[in-house]
Amino acid sequence: MTESEAKKRWCPFVRMHSPGSGACNRETQTPDMQYYKCIASGCMAWRDDEVANQIARSVMENEGHGFCGLAGKP
Ligand code: SF4
Repeated sequence: MTESEAKKRWCPFVRMHSPGSGACNRETQTPDMQYYKCIASGCMAWRDDEVANQIARSVMENEGHGFCGLAGKP
């Protein structure tokens, strides 16, 4: 999966508290609720998919491929 594809998907590990609680692991100021989605390589759990990246490089595609390491290898 490309990073841009991942960023359109919900992260099942996001945990948020109600506004004002001060506890949150995502940016909450984004107006379109982007903060519950995967942040791809911005997350320590993101794993690069080296096979997909090699194929992408061979066709001159610049975007990185990977997967959520917490969800298991695809
Ligand atoms: S890589 Fe996994 S844990 Fe990290 S933001 Fe994406 S879905 Fe969530």
